[in-house]
Amino acid sequence: MQNIDGPIFETKAFKLSKKEENLSNKARELGMKKFANRAFKYDDNAVFPIENYKDLYKEGFLGICIPKNKGGLGAGFRGYAIAAAEIGRYCGATALTWNMHVCSTLWTGILADDLKMPKNMQESHDKKRTMHYKRIIKEGAIYSQPFSEGGGGAAGATPFLTNAQPTKNGWIINGKKIFASLSGHASYYGILCTEKKTNELASQKDTLYLAVPANAKGVSVQGDWNPLGMRGTISRTLIFKDVFVPKDSALMPKGKYYEAAKRWPHMFLTLSPTYVGLAQAALDFTIKYLRGELPNTPPIKRRMYATKQLSVAEMQIQMENIKTIWFQSISEAGVDPSPQQIKRAYATQYTVMEGAHKIAQLAIRTCGGQAMLKSLSLERIFRDSRCGSLMLPWTAEICLDRIGKTSLYNVGEKD
Ligand SMILES: Cc1cc2nc3c(=O)[nH]c(=O)nc-3n(C[C@H](O)[C@H](O)[C@H](O)COP(=O)(O)OP(=O)(O)OC[C@H]3O[C@@H](n4cnc5c(N)ncnc54)[C@H](O)[C@@H]3O)c2cc1C
Repeated sequence: MQNIDGPIFETKAFKLSKKEENLSNKARELGMKKFANRAFKYDDNAVFPIENYKDLYKEGFLGICIPKNKGGLGAGFRGYAIAAAEIGRYCGATALTWNMHVCSTLWTGILADDLKMPKNMQESHDKKRTMHYKRIIKEGAIYSQPFSEGGGGAAGATPFLTNAQPTKNGWIINGKKIFASLSGHASYYGILCTEKKTNELASQKDTLYLAVPANAKGVSVQGDWNPLGMRGTISRTLIFKDVFVPKDSALMPKGKYYEAAKRWPHMFLTLSPTYVGLAQAALDFTIKYLRGELPNTPPIKRRMYATKQLSVAEMQIQMENIKTIWFQSISEAGVDPSPQQIKRAYATQYTVMEGAHKIAQLAIRTCGGQAMLKSLSLERIFRDSRCGSLMLPWTAEICLDRIGKTSLYNVGEKD
């Protein structure tokens, strides 16, 4: 029997560190042994993958990007991304929601450190993040990332409408977040909002990144969640009505999220690993299916037909293209990238988000009718993979827009 569940990124070829290899192996094992089978019920019933989160906690994966000296696994940006791709291969909804959680440690950790702060700001930030990390490591706290409001805020075009009125000891928050993955399941909602100022227009520079306890007075979850794909993410609407949070709720100092978005733009590539995993999953499925080796299907071989071989070749080529550009962008992620690196990051996001669904589409055509039954994973992979291009701030359309503009116009040029 062919072992097609080898790593997506082989250690030798991609020159992974030992740590990256270990994270990838651990994630793949967890995905294959535990998450793959559970994915059906989370999708069918649109329920949150609670059992998977217990396993992620047990394996230390809730603290994957928390530094070792603060109790975490100390993974870097690339180590996390490779592990997340392996998780996405077996359960898209788990990988996508896990990403929201991990970003709350990645952005407050590696990214914030790269931005360099004055000593007193750094010390105060370190004290706060240590408290947040402790909650994750000791209590298994889950942090989500509800930024979207339905307007230009999450697209980076306008200030967030959700606002925070400063008080002596903290802030009072009012507003609404849509598509809030992990709603009703996160312990803290890591929201982006605009700090209110008297007599001044709201500015994106006043963006605050605050951790709101899910059980705080004035927080409510509204609406249902019955979408096409990523059904286990439970991305319902959150309402904040006069919610008080104390000063230590700040996940980053004021203005630092805004600075990170400008100076560490690869932070927005973190949604992509899930979809690299989904693309690989569609390919894995097709190969197993055509070889007659897919569990719970008759052992009928279909691999001898030339048309199927050609389709698989096309899928392999698309997968290698996705892997190559993605690995390059993930590897070069860091502070103050060049315009070429930023353009490549947009191209990567576009290639992965659109490419994953193209591979899934091809997989359905190639495998044939019996392969798209709901009892098999391909049908779910097809639906889940459609969602990637819609996610702000780097939707497929926004990526195209920025690549086109920055290719044709130098900074400051106009017609
Ligand atoms: C499965 C899933 C899970 C999600 N989880 C989360 C989550 O946890 N947290 C979170 O914050 N969000 C999440 N989202 C939301 C996602 O990031 C988007 O915000 C959402 O899909 C946008 O929906 P919309 O209909 O408002 O989009 P749109 O109407 O397309 O966009 C919203 C606004 O963005 C701006 N915009 C859109 N396109 C362009 C363009 N081409 N050029 C310039 N501006 C543009 C416009 O102001 C527009 O009004 C999730 C989405 C999905 C599908």
